[in-house]
Amino acid sequence: MNLLLEIEKVGHYYADHTALEDVNLEIAQGELVSIVGPSGCGKSTLLRCIAGLIKPSQGRIALNGVQINDVPDNLAVVFQDYSRSLLPWLTVRDNVALPLRRRGRSKAERQATALRVLEAVGLGGAAQKYPWQLSGGMQQRVSIARALAYRPALLLMDEPFGSVDAQTREDLEDLVLQVRNEGMTILLVTHDIDESVYVGDRVVVLSRAPGRIVADLAVGLPSKRDQITTRELPEFVHMRAEVGRLVRA
Ligand code: ADP
Repeated sequence: MNLLLEIEKVGHYYADHTALEDVNLEIAQGELVSIVGPSGCGKSTLLRCIAGLIKPSQGRIALNGVQINDVPDNLAVVFQDYSRSLLPWLTVRDNVALPLRRRGRSKAERQATALRVLEAVGLGGAAQKYPWQLSGGMQQRVSIARALAYRPALLLMDEPFGSVDAQTREDLEDLVLQVRNEGMTILLVTHDIDESVYVGDRVVVLSRAPGRIVADLAVGLPSKRDQITTRELPEFVHMRAEVGRLVRA
């Protein structure tokens, strides 16, 4: 097992509010770990610490053994608010190609990669459109494509499906599972208990503020999942109840 992310004794304070306390978590390469917890428990704070966007008040976070002090260049983040994360004056293809500049690739290579990834996520036909010409679900698919094209070591997702309708949400969950089956390591923050179990290899539960890890559960479901049949398995029903109890405790 190859350890990718190590979080050791992380705590974070905003003025006199303790958002996170003594968080310890390890994620191996290729795992999809869901983080759930009640609203305001510090999920986004933890994700922002991992992304290098804020420095935790206490503790240490390392990616591939290297301590995170700044935004690491082998990491990508998909946020809930797709409408603010895509650039409206660039086409879908150019939005996806943009971060590849940091990888030092030629323009032709960047555009070819963007097109290939857009095809892979079912958006080949939208490459020349502008984000505002697409539905919310398609825009979030573009954000995911942009993250994938970059080939990060770790993909962070912060409530990525909170602003799309239920059917689109299921489609995007299945896209995330497809990406994980291709070997990507993913940390997904969600407040949706069913989603945390459906996509996760592990579900990590945070307590009410200050956020602490109260459970780290292995999801014993077959790795091939299906929106209908997986959700009716006794293991799924049992696990969502267990996570639900922990979140509401
Ligand atoms: P979650 O993502 O679980 O809803 P957050 O990490 O967004 O929780 O927030 C955790 C707590 O920290 C909340 O009480 C929130 O109000 C507070 N908080 C978040 N960001 C800031 C900030 N920039 N300044 C002050 N307090 C903050």
